[in-house]
Amino acid sequence: MKRRRVIYEGKAKILYEGTEPGTVIQYFKDDATAGNGAKKDTIEGKGVLNNRISEYLMTQLAGIGVPTHFVRRLNMREQLIKEVEIIPLEVVVRNVAAGSMSKRLGIEEGTALPRSIIEYYYKNDALNDPWVSEEHITAFGWASPQDLDDMVNLTIRINDFLSGLFLGAGIKLVDFKLEFGRLWENDFMRIVLADEISPDNCRLWDVTTNEKLDKDRFRRDMGGVVEAYSEVARRLGIMPESIQGENKGPVLVK
Ligand code: UDP
Repeated sequence: MKRRRVIYEGKAKILYEGTEPGTVIQYFKDDATAGNGAKKDTIEGKGVLNNRISEYLMTQLAGIGVPTHFVRRLNMREQLIKEVEIIPLEVVVRNVAAGSMSKRLGIEEGTALPRSIIEYYYKNDALNDPWVSEEHITAFGWASPQDLDDMVNLTIRINDFLSGLFLGAGIKLVDFKLEFGRLWENDFMRIVLADEISPDNCRLWDVTTNEKLDKDRFRRDMGGVVEAYSEVARRLGIMPESIQGENKGPVLVK
């Protein structure tokens, strides 16, 4: 037996060498961290839910022509993705004030923004992912002006599409974080959506009650994390079977 090679282990995911050249296996762990690793826990079932939710959202986005790294889901916790060169930026889109924007700018959480706002953070744990501007990004060569232009255009389309998709499920897309990568195909390079889109990196609020259905339940010690993620999957109509059956007691066989 041969042990497969770990390429990278992050806070919530492990990347393994893929089965074909140019591919990687993305494994979703149950681990959750907040505050750059200051708060840690294991939330049973989270990895399975994020794998399924991210598969669904990436597939829907591919359906409207957004290029992504996603190839196919392999099993409950793993998906095959294309190997890309990750751009070291977190692209955050906000539709409603919350989290760090509310704190930094003194805008009450829940205030609708006059328009969607895009922010960039430099991916660097040692520096706590600092807020940066387009000036920093192009001056330090993290992305070229053309890369940035592609990322912004994709981000706007993704936000418009996902806002509508979630609204149809009774969910407000408050804000979310995206990551992009460079995909090389022969001599050509394309910017594609990478990482994951799940309640770990989106703020999702019930449209009528504003109940939080995302990682803020973990960050703010509210409890009911896996129940909230399950509710998102249920409303999207993609509840994984292995979770669906859990905690429901015995099933009456007729
Ligand atoms: N986010 C993320 N990873 C990070 C920081 C933020 O996925 O390292 C997401 C977060 O889930 C939220 C959005 O980006 O949906 C905006 O987060 P914010 O800047 O408000 O930071 P936070 O309050 O989460 O520290």
